[in-house]
Amino acid sequence: YTGKTGSELLTEAIKKFKVYEYQSVPVVVKEEATVYDAISTMFLDDVGTIFVVDRDACLTGVVSRKDLLRASIGNQELDAIPVHIIMTRMPNITVCYGDDQLIDAAKKLMNRQIDGLPVVKDSEKGTEMVGRITKTTITKAFVELITDEHL
Ligand code: ADP
Repeated sequence: YTGKTGSELLTEAIKKFKVYEYQSVPVVVKEEATVYDAISTMFLDDVGTIFVVDRDACLTGVVSRKDLLRASIGNQELDAIPVHIIMTRMPNITVCYGDDQLIDAAKKLMNRQIDGLPVVKDSEKGTEMVGRITKTTITKAFVELITDEHL
């Protein structure tokens, strides 16, 4: 018996969750992709956030559902607008790293009021895309806390 309280054990368990253990595969499009392409990708891959990458698979932008809705209102030619026109771009993107604690990624989602974070790795090429963390990721980890595996 460790003498630790329930909340101390819970805190320890939560701090052990790392981004790399929970990240999922990022859904990406190239900068030349159109708004139409991004909408199709969003439906086909069933995601709410799409990451935009350059030729070297490095992160250049983020496109959310509302970004696409905004671009679509009153606009007939969605296959004529490249996503790079409407995306939120680097360096204004909030990112996280594989070794970060999942709770810190969750705090970023809360503080920035966004749905997803790219997991990146800095390399000589730039900011390489490695994965994604979303509100769903955090929900999954939260539910896992009630399996005694972690406590
Ligand atoms: P929605 O716009 O569908 O509500 P979000 O809340 O995730 O989805 O996005 C809100 C705004 O923040 C959008 O303009 C989007 O481009 C931008 N955004 C989304 N994710 C990030 C991020 N990781 N870093 C910076 N901006 C982001």
